[in-house]
Amino acid sequence: MLTAITNAKVVLPEGLVDGSILMEEGRILAAGRVIPPQDAVIRDARGQYVGPGFVDIHCHGGGTALGHEQPLEAARHHLAHGTTSLLISLAYSLTKDQWVEGIARIRQAMAQPGTSLAGIHFEGPYTNPQYGARSQRAWQIREEDYRLLFSLAEGLVRQCTYAPEMPGARDFARYVKSRQVALAAGHTEMSPAVLADAVTDGVTLIIHLFDAMGCHLGRESIRQTGVLQDSAADAALARTDLSYELICDSRAVHVKPANMQLAYRAAGADKLILITDATVQPYDPAGFPADDPRSSIDLNYNSEGQLSGSRLTMDQACRNMKKYTCAPVMDLFKMAAGNPARAVGLDAVVGSLEAGKEANIVLCDEDMNLSAVFLGGTQVH
Ligand SMILES: [Zn+2]
Repeated sequence: MLTAITNAKVVLPEGLVDGSILMEEGRILAAGRVIPPQDAVIRDARGQYVGPGFVDIHCHGGGTALGHEQPLEAARHHLAHGTTSLLISLAYSLTKDQWVEGIARIRQAMAQPGTSLAGIHFEGPYTNPQYGARSQRAWQIREEDYRLLFSLAEGLVRQCTYAPEMPGARDFARYVKSRQVALAAGHTEMSPAVLADAVTDGVTLIIHLFDAMGCHLGRESIRQTGVLQDSAADAALARTDLSYELICDSRAVHVKPANMQLAYRAAGADKLILITDATVQPYDPAGFPADDPRSSIDLNYNSEGQLSGSRLTMDQACRNMKKYTCAPVMDLFKMAAGNPARAVGLDAVVGSLEAGKEANIVLCDEDMNLSAVFLGGTQVH
C-alpha cells in the first residue's frame, strides 16, 4: 500500500522542507517536495513536523520492564514515545549470569517481527568503580569472560563503554574494535593524555558527558593550586573528533544547565546525542514532596537514595534539551535520531527520512509533543 504523509514540515538531513513523505512496504520512497501519486492513501499532517523516529543507544529499561529481563516490553514503552530503534544497555552492576541471560533474551526478542529493538550496548565491564554502574558485588572480569560475552552477543553489540584508565583497558579496547563495535569512554576519570591514547585505540564516543565522570587527580583536583584541573569531561569536550551522549532530565540533575549549554555551543548539534539511560523506578514519585527530586517525572534514585539513571523517554529528553538550550526542532532530531544512528552504524537503515530507509517516522509539534509514531510504515501510536 502506497501511503503519503502530506502537508508536513519534513525534517530532512539538509534542513526543513514543506512537503510530503511517500512510503510503501515499510520503506521510505521519497521525502521532501514530492507530489503524491493519485493512488496513494493520504494522511494529512496538518502542518506538523514530520521527522525520523528516535534512536536511543543507551537505555536499561522502560515503564515497569527492565531491558535485560523484558526487552520487548521495555522497547514497547519507548516506542510509544517515538523511539523506533532502541539499544538495551547491560551494565556491570548486573551479575555475569544476568548478562548471559539478558543477551539470550534480547536475541530472542529481536527475532520477533515488528520490534524496535536494534541491539545491545555493553556498559562495562571496564568501568571505574568510583563512578557508578558497578555494584560492590561486581564480579572480577577476565579476558575469557568478555570474550564469552562478545561471542554470545555476536552481531548484536553496537556500542561498548569502558574507562580507559583501568588496568587492562587498552587490550580490551583493541578487542572491542576488532569486533567492529563503536567504542565509548564513560564512568571514568581519564586524563587528557589517557583520552588521547583511547582515541588512538578507537574511542569515538563519550557516554553521558558530565555525568559519572571525574578528574584524574581525584579529590586533589582543586586543592593543589586552587585551580580546577582538567576533568575527564573537559578533556573530552576539548577534542574535535568525538561525539557526546547527554542525559537531559527536566531538572538538569545529570547535566547542569550551564554544562548543557556549553556542550551545545562547543560540540554543536552534529556532535551531541540524546540518550535516556532510562531504567525502572523502585518507588512511587507521588509519594515525595515537589521539592524532592524523586517527585520528578524523569529522574530515578536507587534504594540508597543515589541518582541511578532516569525515567526519561526520548520525546521528554528533547523537550528538556529545548528548555535549557533553545535548540530548534531540526537540531533536536539530529541529536535524537541522526547522530545516534550514525554513531553506532545504524544509519544505512534508520536515523533520517531518506529514500530506501525504514519508514520510522514521528509527527510532532514544535515542542516535540508527538501525535503519531510509525514503525516500518505502520502507525503504532
Ligand atoms: Zn547506563
